[in-house]
Amino acid sequence: MLSALLDFLFPPRCPSCHACVERQGFCPACARQLIGMRRMMEMGAMAEDLTGVWVLAHYRDGIRDLLRALKYRRKMAVLDDLRTILAAGEEVLEELPPSLLAIPVPLAMQRQKERGFNQTEEIFAPWFASYGIPFEPILVRTRETMPLYEMTRTERRQELRGAFALVDGADVQGKDLLLVDDIMTTGATLTECARVLRHGGARRVYAIALAGEHR
Ligand SMILES: [Zn+2]
Repeated sequence: MLSALLDFLFPPRCPSCHACVERQGFCPACARQLIGMRRMMEMGAMAEDLTGVWVLAHYRDGIRDLLRALKYRRKMAVLDDLRTILAAGEEVLEELPPSLLAIPVPLAMQRQKERGFNQTEEIFAPWFASYGIPFEPILVRTRETMPLYEMTRTERRQELRGAFALVDGADVQGKDLLLVDDIMTTGATLTECARVLRHGGARRVYAIALAGEHR
């Protein structure tokens, strides 16, 4: 009753174009443009430690705005909109081994300290819980790294080398793992994390990102 009244007074709006929508999330036109599961073939070939990499949306327009609001203005209310994107990942989970451990990519130490939360964990945790997939932050940063955005692919790889490690006592031996991140650009971070996990004995490492800068 209350939620019906609230919907009447404040109808849900598309977080990208702000048109009224029936259910919370992106309107059909924006969803068509922004959301769509995509397997990154190029990444698969580039990174021998990654068996498969998927992104669920384009990192632009409304999706970029929502992620920025969450990260830089701590607007937790946008989580519900961001989580509607995850429906596009259902097919990915169907392709993956049934016994899977999901692992968030850790934030840079300084950012984690300032922000107090890892947006990737906030976005994905309820989704993995609903599928009964454990989601554990067993990767950590070992040192600060320089901002990557102006670096070439090779420079990024060098900068990230050795910047991640498994937490003490974490055992990935023989396991199938799913790395999880909010944004994928060149895939250098996922590649380095996968290398650490494979070095730790993981059987297969997959990766999924909420949004990617693919064209
Ligand atoms: Zn829209």
